[in-house]
Amino acid sequence: MPKRPPRFKYTHKPARPRQPDLRPSAADRGYDHHHAAWRRQVLLNHPVCRRCEAGGRIIPSTIAHHVQPVTCHPELKLDITNGVGVCNACHNTIHRVPGEVERFAQAWAAGPMKGTHYETTAERRPSHHFETSDAGKAV
Ligand SMILES: [Zn+2]
Ligand SMILES: [Zn+2]
Repeated sequence: MPKRPPRFKYTHKPARPRQPDLRPSAADRGYDHHHAAWRRQVLLNHPVCRRCEAGGRIIPSTIAHHVQPVTCHPELKLDITNGVGVCNACHNTIHRVPGEVERFAQAWAAGPMKGTHYETTAERRPSHHFETSDAGKAV
């Protein structure tokens, strides 16, 4: 009798367990229902990412960003005018690139970002963003 051919056994290692979140809880970090209401209103006021918009791209905003950081201006924490809607990629860039929080705040204070010279540098431009100026072009 021929032997049964070997079967493929799926022997992957179990996924690495998630690191415990050592940060204080969302409630302890101040994200309460007041913050939820602030965030909702900011996103209603800024349905598209203002940072992408400044670069000619239309991306829905998903995050309410504090223009003046709460660490410096706790009194502006729930100020609607201190909130701006941005997309996740832009928000990551704003907080990870050194000096970007300040640069963004200055551009925002200078007036509506659209038409200002605020531009993300090409190498830092998130790859998922597309150029709306090309999208509507007649061929
Ligand atoms: Zn964006
Ligand atoms: Zn932010």
